[in-house]
Amino acid sequence: MLRALDGALKARAAKVIPNGMYGHESTAMLPASYPQYFSRAKGAYIWDVDGNRYLDFMCAYGPNLLGYGDPRVDAAAARQQVLGDALTGPSPVMVELAETLVSMVTHADWAMFCKNGTDATTMAKSVARAQTGRRIVIVAQGAYHGSAPWCTPNLTGTLPEDRAFLRTCLYNNVASLEAAVAAAGDDLAAIFASPFKHDAFFDQQALDPAYALRARELCDATGAMLVVDEVRAGFRLARDCSWSLAGVRPDLSSWGKGIANGYPLSVLLGSNRCRDGAGSIYMTGSFWFAAVPMAAAIETLRILRETHYIDHLQRIGERLRNGFEAAAERHGFELRQTGPVQIPQMLFNEDPDFRIGFAWAEEMLRRGIYIHPWHNMFLCAAMTEADMDVAIEAADASLASLAPRRAKLEAHPAITSRLRTRLEAGA
Ligand code: PMP
Repeated sequence: MLRALDGALKARAAKVIPNGMYGHESTAMLPASYPQYFSRAKGAYIWDVDGNRYLDFMCAYGPNLLGYGDPRVDAAAARQQVLGDALTGPSPVMVELAETLVSMVTHADWAMFCKNGTDATTMAKSVARAQTGRRIVIVAQGAYHGSAPWCTPNLTGTLPEDRAFLRTCLYNNVASLEAAVAAAGDDLAAIFASPFKHDAFFDQQALDPAYALRARELCDATGAMLVVDEVRAGFRLARDCSWSLAGVRPDLSSWGKGIANGYPLSVLLGSNRCRDGAGSIYMTGSFWFAAVPMAAAIETLRILRETHYIDHLQRIGERLRNGFEAAAERHGFELRQTGPVQIPQMLFNEDPDFRIGFAWAEEMLRRGIYIHPWHNMFLCAAMTEADMDVAIEAADASLASLAPRRAKLEAHPAITSRLRTRLEAGA
């Protein structure tokens, strides 16, 4: 595959962008052949700048829920663009969208819009502290809630003070949650949780409903706020908060990524239990009230309500999982596929430094399938059963080509150094 233009862009970027690229969309921790730059996307596919097409199992790390460039969503956005986007005040679509979200998400009585997931989780933390007048926030060890100083996984540039009142527990472990709550005493503001355990580099884990129920009880008993961080999984598992599937209603939920099918928008939803706290904080942004992404979100949510997209995601996701499992078995690999089929994580047994995963990803990429060797992936509604079959065939061919080379694979230096840092930190 030709990647001359991508290489040239990387070289130019290295001069004018620190490290050429930053954050999780950097290819620094991906196989060397992964392109950094993409020129376009449509439906389930992306094209890199050299014109290579890929079936994209990352879906922009989540925002692509219905398919890239969904014509219905784009038409709604275009209609609003003619009227106006970032104005001196919000457009009526803000009220309509808040009403729509409150009608869809059972626990929600109000909405506050922002741009990125980090805005929404950070606002959740502030609302919880404002509402309770307390300081401590409990998060699950290893869970990602964004890149602000209080939650970024890379502490460089942050202060210990930024996390002075952050405490951790183990996801799905009731005893560790109870211990963290007890240790917080009368200073507990909030318990944060993701819809299920979806930490990068690890197998995913379904939510234990007993954990969700206990988190709710502990918040009720202490007066703390329960926050579900839906930024990654929101609306891929349910048309409501994901924890509605366990019968548990949080006080706050943070959303982003897929809610406007790729248009920049995030939102904090809350119940009346913390409406006063929400009304008392000051958080805003120049682009938070822009109308185009809100119009896109209204149309996205209409499509979510009126189509069987979740059934579709589950059906194609199961087909993919079964096909990949059979391909792995056929070629003597043990592939662990964890989490919901529509947000799958794929890791190999006997692959502590991810060298098999990296080599597999590289083989898949060569065959036009963009997968990720250590982060969970995403399915979108534009994917078809035929797409899954193409991916399964590619998996079969990739693993066939990998099997004889298995003993000679080498670990990616960036991963080796990350694992060493983690070991040294005792994490
Ligand atoms: N929470 C979760 C669960 C996420 O997955 C992410 C993004 N990967 C965030 C928060 C932060 O969202 P953003 O990158 O839009 O700030």
